Amino acid sequence: MEYAKDDNEIRDRLTEEQYFVTQHAGTERAFTGCYWDTKESGKYHCIVCGVALFTSETKFDSGTGWPSFSEAVEANSIKRKVDESHGMVRIEALCASCDSHLGHIFNDGPPPTGERFCMNSASLKLVPFDEQV
Ligand code: FE
Repeated sequence: MEYAKDDNEIRDRLTEEQYFVTQHAGTERAFTGCYWDTKESGKYHCIVCGVALFTSETKFDSGTGWPSFSEAVEANSIKRKVDESHGMVRIEALCASCDSHLGHIFNDGPPPTGERFCMNSASLKLVPFDEQV
């Protein structure tokens, strides 16, 4: 399902930080986002298009100050792109449905995937399991 992107609509609906992070590949400061230390259960959805991206069951404490997950709800819900900005070569994570920037993926995560999805809280919305539609 493709999400029809309307920049004005997105900017009106999101906070300034959510807009900057998701539409301009920004990064929230560590330990400032609303989910870095969250332990509540539920699914983390894309703040822009609403698709489910992660569950609390794969969230772990990475010590980085950003919400971190060992895998996505479905492998194809996240799009990967090589990011050579800021003098580093990293793998950028984007929402596969709407192309919003989510964060980066590193190879120092816990088993079984060994991956660390380092996300911005600003890109996500936590919805408890019993409130899933
Ligand atoms: Fe999305």
